[in-house]
Amino acid sequence: MANVFFLLGSNLGDKNRWLAGARQQISRHIGSIVTASSVYKTAAWGNESQDDFYNQVIEVKTTQKPREVLQMIQKIEIQAGRKRIEKWGARTLDIDILFWDDNVISSQDLQVPHPGIPHRRFTLIPLEEIAPDMVHPTLQKSIRQLLVDCKDGLMVERL
Ligand code: ADP
Ligand code: MG
Repeated sequence: MANVFFLLGSNLGDKNRWLAGARQQISRHIGSIVTASSVYKTAAWGNESQDDFYNQVIEVKTTQKPREVLQMIQKIEIQAGRKRIEKWGARTLDIDILFWDDNVISSQDLQVPHPGIPHRRFTLIPLEEIAPDMVHPTLQKSIRQLLVDCKDGLMVERL
Protein backbone atom coordinates (compact mmCIF):
# COMPACT_ATOMS: atom_id res chain seq x y z
CA MET A 1 0.00 0.00 0.00
CA ALA A 2 1.44 3.37 -1.00
CA ASN A 3 0.69 6.77 0.47
CA VAL A 4 0.33 9.33 -2.31
CA PHE A 5 -0.24 13.10 -2.28
CA PHE A 6 -2.03 14.76 -5.18
CA LEU A 7 -2.49 18.40 -6.04
CA LEU A 8 -5.86 19.18 -7.63
CA GLY A 9 -6.33 22.42 -9.55
CA SER A 10 -9.01 24.11 -11.63
CA ASN A 11 -9.29 27.59 -13.13
CA LEU A 12 -12.13 27.28 -15.60
CA GLY A 13 -15.89 27.02 -15.10
CA ASP A 14 -17.36 25.63 -11.88
CA LYS A 15 -14.05 25.09 -10.07
CA ASN A 16 -15.51 23.55 -6.92
CA ARG A 17 -17.44 21.09 -9.00
CA TRP A 18 -14.31 19.98 -10.91
CA LEU A 19 -12.44 19.45 -7.65
CA ALA A 20 -15.35 17.47 -6.17
CA GLY A 21 -15.53 15.36 -9.32
CA ALA A 22 -11.79 14.68 -9.14
CA ARG A 23 -12.06 13.53 -5.51
CA GLN A 24 -14.92 11.24 -6.42
CA GLN A 25 -13.09 9.70 -9.40
CA ILE A 26 -9.85 9.30 -7.45
CA SER A 27 -11.59 7.51 -4.59
CA ARG A 28 -13.43 5.31 -7.06
CA HIS A 29 -10.51 4.43 -9.34
CA ILE A 30 -7.27 4.97 -7.40
CA GLY A 31 -7.78 4.58 -3.66
CA SER A 32 -9.36 6.01 -0.57
CA ILE A 33 -8.76 9.62 0.40
CA VAL A 34 -7.37 9.68 3.94
CA THR A 35 -6.86 13.45 4.28
CA ALA A 36 -7.91 16.50 2.30
CA SER A 37 -6.74 20.08 2.76
CA SER A 38 -9.05 23.05 2.52
CA VAL A 39 -9.61 24.50 -0.93
CA TYR A 40 -7.48 27.58 -1.65
CA LYS A 41 -7.97 30.34 -4.14
CA THR A 42 -4.60 30.99 -5.75
CA ALA A 43 -3.19 33.37 -8.33
CA ALA A 44 -2.28 31.64 -11.61
CA TRP A 45 1.42 30.79 -11.65
CA GLY A 46 3.53 31.18 -14.80
CA ASN A 47 0.79 33.07 -16.67
CA GLU A 48 -0.58 35.76 -14.43
CA SER A 49 -3.19 37.13 -16.80
CA GLN A 50 -5.29 33.99 -16.21
CA ASP A 51 -8.21 33.54 -13.87
CA ASP A 52 -7.43 32.39 -10.31
CA PHE A 53 -7.13 28.70 -9.55
CA TYR A 54 -8.78 26.66 -6.87
CA ASN A 55 -6.23 24.23 -5.43
CA GLN A 56 -6.44 21.39 -2.93
CA VAL A 57 -4.04 18.68 -1.75
CA ILE A 58 -5.32 15.20 -0.93
CA GLU A 59 -3.60 12.17 0.60
CA VAL A 60 -4.61 8.81 -0.86
CA LYS A 61 -3.82 5.17 -0.06
CA THR A 62 -3.47 3.02 -3.14
CA THR A 63 -2.38 -0.48 -4.12
CA GLN A 64 -1.71 0.63 -7.71
CA LYS A 65 1.62 1.38 -9.37
CA PRO A 66 2.76 4.94 -10.21
CA ARG A 67 2.37 4.60 -13.97
CA GLU A 68 -1.14 3.14 -13.67
CA VAL A 69 -2.08 6.08 -11.47
CA LEU A 70 -0.55 8.58 -13.93
CA GLN A 71 -2.68 7.08 -16.72
CA MET A 72 -5.79 7.20 -14.55
CA ILE A 73 -5.33 10.86 -13.56
CA GLN A 74 -4.89 11.75 -17.23
CA LYS A 75 -8.15 9.93 -18.00
CA ILE A 76 -9.93 11.81 -15.23
CA GLU A 77 -8.58 15.13 -16.57
CA ILE A 78 -9.82 14.34 -20.07
CA GLN A 79 -13.25 13.31 -18.74
CA ALA A 80 -13.42 16.71 -17.07
CA GLY A 81 -13.17 18.27 -20.51
CA ARG A 82 -9.56 19.30 -20.23
CA LYS A 83 -7.87 20.16 -23.47
CA ARG A 84 -4.12 20.53 -23.72
CA ILE A 85 -3.85 23.85 -25.51
CA GLU A 86 -0.85 25.59 -24.02
CA LYS A 87 1.57 24.94 -21.22
CA TRP A 88 0.25 26.57 -18.05
CA GLY A 89 -2.97 27.41 -19.92
CA ALA A 90 -6.44 27.55 -18.35
CA ARG A 91 -7.80 24.12 -17.50
CA THR A 92 -10.94 22.64 -16.00
CA LEU A 93 -8.89 20.11 -14.06
CA ASP A 94 -5.21 19.44 -13.39
CA ILE A 95 -4.10 16.56 -11.20
CA ASP A 96 -0.41 16.26 -10.27
CA ILE A 97 1.32 13.58 -8.23
CA LEU A 98 3.32 15.41 -5.54
CA PHE A 99 4.77 12.54 -3.49
CA TRP A 100 4.68 8.76 -3.69
CA ASP A 101 5.80 7.54 -0.25
CA ASP A 102 9.43 8.63 -0.15
CA ASN A 103 10.12 7.26 -3.62
CA VAL A 104 12.12 9.18 -6.19
CA ILE A 105 11.03 8.66 -9.80
CA SER A 106 12.69 10.52 -12.63
CA SER A 107 11.57 9.43 -16.03
CA GLN A 108 10.46 11.64 -18.89
CA ASP A 109 6.73 11.19 -18.27
CA LEU A 110 6.82 11.09 -14.48
CA GLN A 111 8.87 13.01 -11.95
CA VAL A 112 8.26 12.39 -8.26
CA PRO A 113 8.52 14.32 -6.01
CA HIS A 114 6.95 16.87 -8.34
CA PRO A 115 9.77 19.34 -9.21
CA GLY A 116 7.56 22.40 -8.66
CA ILE A 117 6.93 21.74 -4.96
CA PRO A 118 9.61 23.98 -3.40
CA HIS A 119 8.81 26.90 -5.71
CA ARG A 120 5.04 27.09 -5.39
CA ARG A 121 3.10 28.42 -2.43
CA PHE A 122 -0.13 27.16 -4.00
CA THR A 123 1.23 23.66 -3.42
CA LEU A 124 3.14 24.16 -0.16
CA ILE A 125 0.35 25.92 1.75
CA PRO A 126 -2.29 23.17 1.34
CA LEU A 127 0.42 20.54 1.89
CA GLU A 128 1.51 22.21 5.10
CA GLU A 129 -2.09 22.17 6.31
CA ILE A 130 -2.21 18.35 6.21
CA ALA A 131 1.44 17.22 6.42
CA PRO A 132 3.67 19.94 7.92
CA ASP A 133 6.31 17.53 9.25
CA MET A 134 6.62 15.34 6.19
CA VAL A 135 10.20 15.42 4.92
CA HIS A 136 10.91 15.91 1.23
CA PRO A 137 12.93 12.80 0.26
CA THR A 138 15.58 14.55 -1.82
CA LEU A 139 15.68 18.07 -0.35
CA GLN A 140 15.63 16.61 3.19
CA LYS A 141 13.52 19.45 4.55
CA SER A 142 10.06 19.41 6.10
CA ILE A 143 7.13 20.97 4.26
CA ARG A 144 7.07 23.67 6.94
CA GLN A 145 10.71 24.51 6.25
CA LEU A 146 10.20 24.48 2.47
CA LEU A 147 7.42 27.01 2.94
CA VAL A 148 9.64 29.27 5.07
CA ASP A 149 12.31 29.12 2.34
CA CYS A 150 9.91 29.62 -0.60
CA LYS A 151 10.35 32.88 -2.53
CA ASP A 152 6.99 32.73 -4.34
CA GLY A 153 4.87 35.74 -3.42
CA LEU A 154 1.65 34.97 -5.30
CA MET A 155 -1.73 35.09 -3.56
CA VAL A 156 -2.94 31.93 -1.78
CA GLU A 157 -6.17 32.40 0.18
CA ARG A 158 -8.03 29.74 2.14
CA LEU A 159 -11.69 29.54 1.15
P1 ADP B 1 1.37 20.90 -15.61
O1 ADP B 1 0.76 20.04 -14.56
O2 ADP B 1 2.85 21.10 -15.45
O3 ADP B 1 0.67 22.20 -15.79
P2 ADP B 1 0.38 18.92 -17.44
O4 ADP B 1 -0.66 18.59 -16.42
O5 ADP B 1 -0.08 19.16 -18.84
O6 ADP B 1 1.24 20.16 -17.02
O7 ADP B 1 1.43 17.75 -17.40
C1 ADP B 1 2.33 17.54 -18.42
C2 ADP B 1 3.01 16.18 -18.24
O8 ADP B 1 3.68 16.13 -17.00
C3 ADP B 1 2.12 14.96 -18.18
O9 ADP B 1 1.88 14.46 -19.46
C4 ADP B 1 2.92 13.97 -17.34
O10 ADP B 1 3.44 12.90 -18.10
C5 ADP B 1 4.06 14.80 -16.81
N1 ADP B 1 4.39 14.60 -15.39
C6 ADP B 1 5.66 14.47 -14.94
N2 ADP B 1 5.69 14.33 -13.61
C7 ADP B 1 4.38 14.38 -13.20
C8 ADP B 1 3.77 14.29 -11.93
N3 ADP B 1 4.50 14.13 -10.80
N4 ADP B 1 2.42 14.37 -11.86
C9 ADP B 1 1.69 14.55 -12.98
N5 ADP B 1 2.22 14.64 -14.24
C10 ADP B 1 3.54 14.55 -14.35
MG1 MG C 1 -0.52 18.36 -14.41
